Amino acid sequence: MANRKYIVGNWKMNGLQSELSDISEIASIAAAHPSVDAAICPPVTLIASAASHNSAFAIGAQDCHFNEKGAHTGCVSAAMIKQAGASFSILGHSERRADQHETDAEIKAKAEAVHAAGLGAIICVGETEEERDAGKAVHVVCGQLEGSFPDKADSSWLTIAYEPVWAIGTGRVPEASDVEEMHAAIRNKLGKLMGEGADAVRILYGGSMNGGNAAELLAVPNVDGGLVGGASLTAEKFGPIIEAAAAA
Ligand code: PEP
Repeated sequence: MANRKYIVGNWKMNGLQSELSDISEIASIAAAHPSVDAAICPPVTLIASAASHNSAFAIGAQDCHFNEKGAHTGCVSAAMIKQAGASFSILGHSERRADQHETDAEIKAKAEAVHAAGLGAIICVGETEEERDAGKAVHVVCGQLEGSFPDKADSSWLTIAYEPVWAIGTGRVPEASDVEEMHAAIRNKLGKLMGEGADAVRILYGGSMNGGNAAELLAVPNVDGGLVGGASLTAEKFGPIIEAAAAA
């Protein structure tokens, strides 16, 4: 388990230039809590401006292509997001797995592409409600992890985010005991996939984390931080999560 908590905001398809003031306000809160590694992933159109608006936390992308360049209309490469100012990318978010039909093999290729470009990666895994109800949650999540696990993985650039699909944007959060069971299973699987370095890989929890539940979630063993959607959009909502991480 890592010592420093990692709190990452995923703005999804939200944010115009007018919202950059939120980045500045979040940066002030992050600067006041240097024991926390904070980051925001704005839409790709705001990466460059967000990176120049703050030095208190990292700016990431929400996705990138696995190829270096070529005929992929509408896509951006790892080198492009890096040049814009991103230092890492979220990969394999469940919304992309569902909407863009992303496969584990593509996510693995994307992770290897961002690593080759000198960037970090947060690989997302998580079960649907039907899979949980069928008692398959651990099996599904560990299968996604194995299928999307990149070569040459180590904790200096790789983070895993456990995001139960049914908890994303719904206000529903798993029991702490279920989060604990899943994060332990992910840690165990990381051990099998990469050996010794597994303990240092940060495992984030994501799914309706907010200022009211962050302290409890961040206290769960093997929860090294949070991936936050809706509650990352304003300093008013994101600030209390950074504060909870600083106190954890
Ligand atoms: C997410 O989509 O990564 C997420 C965790 O969203 P929310 O916090 O809104 O549930």
